[in-house]
Amino acid sequence: MPVLVMKFGGTSVATLDRIKRAAKRVALEVAKGYDVIVIVSAMSGKTNELVGWVNETSPLYDAREYDAVVSSGENVTAGLMALTLQEMDVPARSWQGWQVPVKTTSAHSSARIEEIPSDNIMAKFGEGMKVAVVAGFQGISPEGRITTLGRGGSDTTAVAFAAAFDAERCDIYTDVDGVYTTDPRIAEKARKLDKISFEEMLELASLGAKVLQTRSVELAMRYKVKLRVLSSFEEPSDTAGTLVCDEEEIMESNVVSGIAYSRDEAKMTLQSVEDRPGIAAAIFGPLSNAGINVDMIIQNIAEEGRTDMTFSCPTDQVIRAEKALNDAKAAGELNFSDLIADTNVAKISAVGIGMRSQSGVAAKMFQTLSDEGINIKVIATSEIKISVLVDRKYMELAVQSLHDAFELEKA
Ligand code: ASP
Ligand code: MG
Repeated sequence: MPVLVMKFGGTSVATLDRIKRAAKRVALEVAKGYDVIVIVSAMSGKTNELVGWVNETSPLYDAREYDAVVSSGENVTAGLMALTLQEMDVPARSWQGWQVPVKTTSAHSSARIEEIPSDNIMAKFGEGMKVAVVAGFQGISPEGRITTLGRGGSDTTAVAFAAAFDAERCDIYTDVDGVYTTDPRIAEKARKLDKISFEEMLELASLGAKVLQTRSVELAMRYKVKLRVLSSFEEPSDTAGTLVCDEEEIMESNVVSGIAYSRDEAKMTLQSVEDRPGIAAAIFGPLSNAGINVDMIIQNIAEEGRTDMTFSCPTDQVIRAEKALNDAKAAGELNFSDLIADTNVAKISAVGIGMRSQSGVAAKMFQTLSDEGINIKVIATSEIKISVLVDRKYMELAVQSLHDAFELEKA
């Protein structure tokens, strides 16, 4: 029998009624002849509550016990989903991560999946079971402890199962009906995409379009898992949602596929650093050791042997970044006059695989922002992405005007 993976996020299993709705969708696929692996999240809000309890009990918690607690939300929904299916006469049973077992690294709270043996679940399919309901987000470390995969990790569980079981498709059921050209709450002309390539989705996911955990897209790309993002609140149909797939499967696409934004970016400038070999290493070495996720970097032209170095990083890492740089300065490894943090910026990015073959995207982007009187503070580009930092108060305007300029409302 072909295998299908269906993942239901927190809002899709938020109540017993919604679990029933989800179970009905599963039954439809079983009726089509699939053996189904259902991956469930915790009921919406549950994981946050569990995290809160851990923090309240022990601010400097033992990460192994954190995982023991926060993984439990998924256990509840897995059992309830299996029961609901049984009530509908669909042969189903639940699995917790360790029972499969989903083997992970021991990096508690951000573990990576290393292996998912399929024999256990396959044997049950062989005996006539139709649905394996698996608790998402969790696994077991080599030491035998329960691990979790990081927030949003059930997406990654789903893709990993699809790869391990060679599933025909991995359907991610959520509360939005697909991936949009931009956030519809900001630009009302935002359009749902029928298809998007793995690479574009990876950029959009890591840029803050929070539909899929970034890691899940990486995995899907590596193992060529066909991913579909769709809403569990809409009527079932074969064309629903957005298919995330190989770019070869997308015949025609716009040069720019989407505009992403991130509010949580800060700009940091080191003024008057010496311009000498090794200076970048002296700055970004300590930042890397402190776990700072540096994104954009610019070095200004040097004058009299001194230069300014600007970089961006997530807003909530600013204090750590400042400490790392000031410590390096105090240790005599680095010399700068001032360190200025600007937390009032937003990052806007245009993403599209069409940029590889078509020029003029950057020029159009900059002209559009200039026409709106929006000053660009930092620019960074990659093969399929152009990002700029602008004042946060212009974020919405920038997103809307770029969406218009690249005519993303048109298919
Ligand atoms: N329940 C976990 C979370 O809220 C994992 C997931 O739902 O993907 O992050
Ligand atoms: Mg999610």
